[in-house]
Amino acid sequence: MRSNLKRAGLSLIIGILCLSGILQAKEYLETTYNYTRGLSQSQVWSVIEDEKGYLWVGTQYGLSRFNGYEFRNFYTQHGLPSSIIYDLETDRLGNLWIGTSNGISRWDGKTFKTFRMKGDRIVDSRDLHITRDGKIYFITIDSLGVVRGDNLYSLDGEIDLCRCEYTCITSNAKGELFIGTSDAGVFKIRGNKTFSYNFHNNRATVSALFWDEDESALYIGTDDGLYILQNEQIFLIESTAFLRGHDITSIRKTHHQSIVISVYDKGVYELVDTNWNRIYTSTQLLINTLFTDSVGNIWVGKDGGGLIRLSESPFQNIRSGEGGAINGYPMAIEEAPDGSIWIATTRFGVYHLEDRNDINPEHYIDFLGASGNIVRSIVVRKDNSVWMGTAGGIAVLKDRKFKTYSTQNGLTNKTVRNIYEDSEGMLWISTDYGITLYRDGEFSSFKGNNRFHHKNITQVTQDNNGVYWIATLGGLYKFDGDKLSRYKPPDYPNDMQVETIFIDSQNTIWIGGVDGLAQINPDGDFKRFGIVDGFDINFIYFIIEGKPGEIWIGTGNGLYRYFNEQFHHYTEQNGLVGIEANARAALKDRAGKLWFGFLNGISIYKEIEKYAFIRSPVVYIDELIVDGSKVNVSGKVELPYTSREFFFRFHSIALNPAHRVQYQYQLSPLDDSWSVPTNQRFKQYSYLKPGHYQFRVKAIINNETESLLPGVIEFYIVPPIWLRWWFIISTGLLIATIITLFVFLRLRRLEREKAALHEAVKERTRELEEKNKELESFAYTVSHDLKDPVGVIVGYAQVMEDFLKKKKVSGANHFLEGIKRNSDKIVRFIDDLLQLSRSGKVVEKFTETDVRVIVGQIKKELIEKGRIKKENLTFRKLPKVNADFDRLYLVFLNLIKNAYKYRARGRKLKITITYERLPDAHLFKIKDNGIGIEAEMIDEIFKPGVRLKSVDTVGSGFGLRIVQKIVEAHRGKIWVESQVGKGSTFYFTIGFLE
Ligand code: ADP
Repeated sequence: MRSNLKRAGLSLIIGILCLSGILQAKEYLETTYNYTRGLSQSQVWSVIEDEKGYLWVGTQYGLSRFNGYEFRNFYTQHGLPSSIIYDLETDRLGNLWIGTSNGISRWDGKTFKTFRMKGDRIVDSRDLHITRDGKIYFITIDSLGVVRGDNLYSLDGEIDLCRCEYTCITSNAKGELFIGTSDAGVFKIRGNKTFSYNFHNNRATVSALFWDEDESALYIGTDDGLYILQNEQIFLIESTAFLRGHDITSIRKTHHQSIVISVYDKGVYELVDTNWNRIYTSTQLLINTLFTDSVGNIWVGKDGGGLIRLSESPFQNIRSGEGGAINGYPMAIEEAPDGSIWIATTRFGVYHLEDRNDINPEHYIDFLGASGNIVRSIVVRKDNSVWMGTAGGIAVLKDRKFKTYSTQNGLTNKTVRNIYEDSEGMLWISTDYGITLYRDGEFSSFKGNNRFHHKNITQVTQDNNGVYWIATLGGLYKFDGDKLSRYKPPDYPNDMQVETIFIDSQNTIWIGGVDGLAQINPDGDFKRFGIVDGFDINFIYFIIEGKPGEIWIGTGNGLYRYFNEQFHHYTEQNGLVGIEANARAALKDRAGKLWFGFLNGISIYKEIEKYAFIRSPVVYIDELIVDGSKVNVSGKVELPYTSREFFFRFHSIALNPAHRVQYQYQLSPLDDSWSVPTNQRFKQYSYLKPGHYQFRVKAIINNETESLLPGVIEFYIVPPIWLRWWFIISTGLLIATIITLFVFLRLRRLEREKAALHEAVKERTRELEEKNKELESFAYTVSHDLKDPVGVIVGYAQVMEDFLKKKKVSGANHFLEGIKRNSDKIVRFIDDLLQLSRSGKVVEKFTETDVRVIVGQIKKELIEKGRIKKENLTFRKLPKVNADFDRLYLVFLNLIKNAYKYRARGRKLKITITYERLPDAHLFKIKDNGIGIEAEMIDEIFKPGVRLKSVDTVGSGFGLRIVQKIVEAHRGKIWVESQVGKGSTFYFTIGFLE
């Protein structure tokens, strides 16, 4: 019973601590980023977060951009004027301004642009500041400057402060500038007026300034403590007296709106009420700067040692052992009706805490011998009696007095593992040899004790239906108040070692032990968790429910949270006090807080308040790698259809590890839905069909906050040429064009050939005409030339006849007659020949020709010559036609003459000429009753020179040929029908001519 003494001692220490104003209540998780983790260099001068959520870090050698996973570094080769980066600021347009040892640079998201002083004076920009209205000021060791246009201007000529060193600069919403100095206090500049503020009695060096707009106060960090300038008054915050002689290097506000400062050679402190909570201690590696980000982290930039992230731990820890509130392994945690907490330990008895912040709890030990200090279970009953199950029996504390019970009082075994108070107030005491029941001052043995296969009972609990579940190291049992039965899981050994059993709000029974985690759901289905569920831990020590459906599992390898069918792992890195859990050491208190017991102490889970500044996570798709080469995704993305492997890399800025980022992605139209959440920041697809695609990724922070807008990449896999619509259309068009062209060319060729043929025909016709003409003139000439000598022969024959008459020579007349007759014949022949050659000229001109007149004249002529008599030739209804009168006359003359010539002897000649008007021509018929023409000769008679043997020698055989030529010249035809011995009918037509 040393508790009171210990308590007094501790109170004294706490009092001293409070005097100096230091607390250590809130726990922060530390993560270090240095050169080996990708930071450009480990001497950090400045840290800032940009609009997109990237963290920028300026170091002694390089500028680093952090996305929560990795750093990207920039140096002079990227366009920075110097690789020594002193200060970083962001402007309203989202640009990053970088104060370097060689001028100021601006990063617009793509390139760096350098700003220099006119006259090329090198500017050592140690401190940059951008006012609310966007003016960019900078200080060097001895001057104040401003960015104007593309240049830097010194304001030394306009504003004269002091002959001193400028150390820092800030401004307020009114546009007033504040400048801290090394030994002349703080200056305020309003317009071109300056105001000077000094400290009471010493010349403190100002090392940091922070304007708090909410309080209209300027925090001034010095080597003499923290001052506040408010309402033109300057005063020291008393509780910072302990910082005298130490530089305050940065002042910031946390997302809790508390002030946090970094002290160069001491650490980081948060102002809570009027006390300072030391949240980071650093003695060896010094602190240059501090930054509070939008998701609640505090970033510490060290002077060597890199960058430290401090993020609030989700656990508050009660440590066991030296310096902790308790000792030993916490085995059971129980809340009393008054809200106080009882903690059972191994070897150190029991602790009683007023609340979770009680660092000096009541301690009970040695109340039941040495084995009684091993306490595995505690139950606080309604009457405030505290029942403790120990390795030496049961101890009951009531009204500060202990009562103890062991085997002699009826316990089945003195090693008590668990005490459970059922719904009727009965205690079920699990021991290493069965179960003892306690009710109304009586211990009794559970009637089914001899039916357990293993006597080590670990826990008894009751489900929502009042059924008891009994966990043993040799299987699970069910007791319905009447019957005890062994629960036989399907496909699983019956003798599983059950260390703990828990029934959740859904009446799902959770069991855990050496054989891992299993579940019996309300339908009775048994499920054992394994690697496929993302959980293959074998040593399960406790199971408890947080908010409904959220199961926490204490294992031999840290704590797991099972929610939405997913496991989240917590270890010391997440602020957990340790990783080796203790059997059944878990509590959900009335306030809903969860207590977890580990070998090293107790971790209390507090759901960190949702951060006021937490933004919906923005997802950046960094890369698309297709078949091993990076694709530029800034513009329109077109990929060949031969592309095979598509590799997407993405990230969301995840500055806080406690709020794990998970990703869900979807490739439309391939994926129907979002993928299951994953921590992977890449996704690969293979063999995508040609077409349009959209790849989207969203991030989910802590299973709760989802991206408002997913990251999107759209791309198009260009189909092979033969599948593209334009190709199909243009190919169709091309084919159509080719066909058209082919047809066209063919037609043109034919056209040309036709024209050529036409030309040739014309040419031939002309040639023929020429030949004809030649022939005509030849025939004509020949005829003429022949006619004269024949005339001479006839003349000489006449002369000879006269001579012989005078000489009275007789007997020669017969010869002379022969000469005359044959000469006549030659003359007739020549006449006909002349006519034929002339008729080749076809017609001269068409005139109205009365056929009655023609036939009448011929008849008259023939009658006059005594050839025919009037009655031999009749004609009727002969028309007037358009024709060449002379030629048509010749036609009728020839045909009538032939009818006469080839008359049949012995019958009276009868020639009938008739006319018929056809739709398109005049038809004339010349019918005789002459000798007729043999059938085989009918086609021959129109050929020149054809004469029939049987006939006498009156014709030349040219007549019908001439007739035919004339008829044809009148666009007519001539043909004959004939019967030998009966007569012939000659038909001819002439066209309706103009
Ligand atoms: P020709 O000078 O021999 O009469 P044509 O050309 O006028 O020459 O007639 C050719 C032949 O057709 C004649 O030799 C004759 O045999 C036959 N022919 C012509 N007209 C008649 C007719 N009306 N009756 C019988 N035969 C005819």
